[in-house]
Amino acid sequence: MGRMLAIAGYPLNHKFGFLGKNDAPSALLGQIFSGNKGIDDLVDFADVITYESENTDVEIVKQISKKTTVYPSAKSLFITQHRGREKTLFKQLGIPCVPYKMVSSQQDLIKAVSEIGLPAILKTATEGYDGKGQFLLHNKSQIGAAWKSMNGALSILESFIDFKRELSLIAVRDTDNNHKYYPLVENTHHNGILRLTIAPAPAISPKVQKTAERYMQTLLDEMKHIGVLTIELFETENGLIANEMAPRVHNSGHWSINSANTSQFENHIRAISNMPLGDTSATNNFSAMINIIGEIGNIDAVLKMPNAHLHLYDKTERTGRKLGHINITANSKQEIDDSIKQLQEFLPNDD
Ligand code: AMP
Repeated sequence: MGRMLAIAGYPLNHKFGFLGKNDAPSALLGQIFSGNKGIDDLVDFADVITYESENTDVEIVKQISKKTTVYPSAKSLFITQHRGREKTLFKQLGIPCVPYKMVSSQQDLIKAVSEIGLPAILKTATEGYDGKGQFLLHNKSQIGAAWKSMNGALSILESFIDFKRELSLIAVRDTDNNHKYYPLVENTHHNGILRLTIAPAPAISPKVQKTAERYMQTLLDEMKHIGVLTIELFETENGLIANEMAPRVHNSGHWSINSANTSQFENHIRAISNMPLGDTSATNNFSAMINIIGEIGNIDAVLKMPNAHLHLYDKTERTGRKLGHINITANSKQEIDDSIKQLQEFLPNDD
């Protein structure tokens, strides 16, 4: 994410420094700060600091906020890094969310299962991503194993939602309280990991888009969020249900690099550096993003497709690791479907 933010920010005449290692994907894109003095040196270097993960230490963000500007603020980070706090805020703002119970012991889990019912998903309250730290419970005999898999961490039991599809909304708010929203997109996950995004999501009524934007606006304003914020939603028979938020650019927004007037990365950089926000409209009505996961694969085939755009992150291959993505631009739904078929080797084959 840091790499893509910097790539988007250079044409705006910004300079970048990174807290990280010399072999990080963002290395060579700017100055790398590491070691004991890394944070202090970064604070001296930067006019504004941002972060690419909700697992960033809130205390560190609070500390460095005393010396330099950090966007999004520690408040946004504090709420969005904890599934319980997120859902408390959803409820407080009247945003429909998944029925849930916080769980901190096996006894709690037994009680929560009897209240929530099954099937249900047990998730760690913090630090989980890409489906990690989750256990799907079908019957009560799994309670012991489910609790054990949480390793004693504070957890949340959520009702299993029978959704029609998964959507996400990405928005950006600047320091002058301007808001901009990208179109809702449709996301397909496999084993908890995003594999495919269709942008904009097909057959979204203006009413559903407006509803999602209304939820988002209340969240942006309540947290006084500066920068990009993402909300993941389930589309159900009874409307939209919020799953979780991320205080950052999001994998489901990568399509915007090739198919929006301003990418999510550029708009995040604009927002945190007091520049006017860019237009978030899709430049074409049909685009898609396929994640490259685990191994790079036959990228020559991708490069030969006139409507495919390759984005690699300079990461070494490892099972389950996001190594890059392919953006597809198209003139019709048929062209999207045909291109996805052509790129089938990058998608899971056991669906
Ligand atoms: P999360 O880390 O919460 O985004 O979960 C990863 C994926 O697991 C989601 O994108 C869904 O595909 C699935 N999932 C998570 N929570 C639920 C739920 N309460 N009901 C049904 N599926 C879920």
